[in-house]
Amino acid sequence: MSSSEKASDGRRIVIKSLDEIMIMQEANQIVAETLTLLKGQIEPGVTTWDLDKIAEDFCNRKKVIPAFKGYRGFPGSLCVSINEEVVHGIPSRKKKLKKGDIISIDFGVLCRGFFGDSAVTIPVGKVDPEVNRLLDVTRESLNKGITQVVAGNRIADISKAVQGHVESHGFSVVKQFVGHGIGSQLHEAPEIPNFYQGERTARLQAGMVLAIEPMVNMGTHKVKVLRDGWTVITYDKKPSAHFEHSVAVTEDGPLILSLRGK
Ligand code: MG
Ligand code: MG
Repeated sequence: MSSSEKASDGRRIVIKSLDEIMIMQEANQIVAETLTLLKGQIEPGVTTWDLDKIAEDFCNRKKVIPAFKGYRGFPGSLCVSINEEVVHGIPSRKKKLKKGDIISIDFGVLCRGFFGDSAVTIPVGKVDPEVNRLLDVTRESLNKGITQVVAGNRIADISKAVQGHVESHGFSVVKQFVGHGIGSQLHEAPEIPNFYQGERTARLQAGMVLAIEPMVNMGTHKVKVLRDGWTVITYDKKPSAHFEHSVAVTEDGPLILSLRGK
């Protein structure tokens, strides 16, 4: 299996065989099950540390490796980001969920040599209607992006679909962090920005697998990294949402490997 298609940064995009895509579906289904399991545990008083332990135990039972733990020194299995935290929040015994919070949970595993990666943002009890709208628009923008995962389209088509939906609803997309190809590496070419950077992007072909992950802010698109070296927060401290799916390009259109409830 070889590919001539290169990302706009010149890196080669790895094409996966059908067998490899099936393994990636297995990996991503374990991620999906974990996120569903965690969703059922979200309530006021639960710490992000508790959630991390649940995910780790589940990985042990399924005999897969949590992908983020130790990745460039990241200390947790989950990335857990609350309210104005955008991504890469570190699980902590001190971080207790409160009613009205939103929590983004980003999770990945390594299973039989391949990675799965998916994220959801979950409300803790009843949240402000505007925050609910942020969650809806972010989830919808991911789905709009996935609709563009068609052989012959370009990465730019995904970016435009996500950005167009988000901005038409008055929210902003984070530019400093982007989606990515995924396979035997957690992060592979190509980068998948949630904003348009011109047409000169890779053309999609069957066998590519993409982790599409809009990060959407209620206010400014600007973000900063906290002193822990990981946690990304919005510059204006307004809330942010994050949804992610790993999606294979097939001859029959997009195949969402991390689809929940299968
Ligand atoms: Mg992720
Ligand atoms: Mg990802």
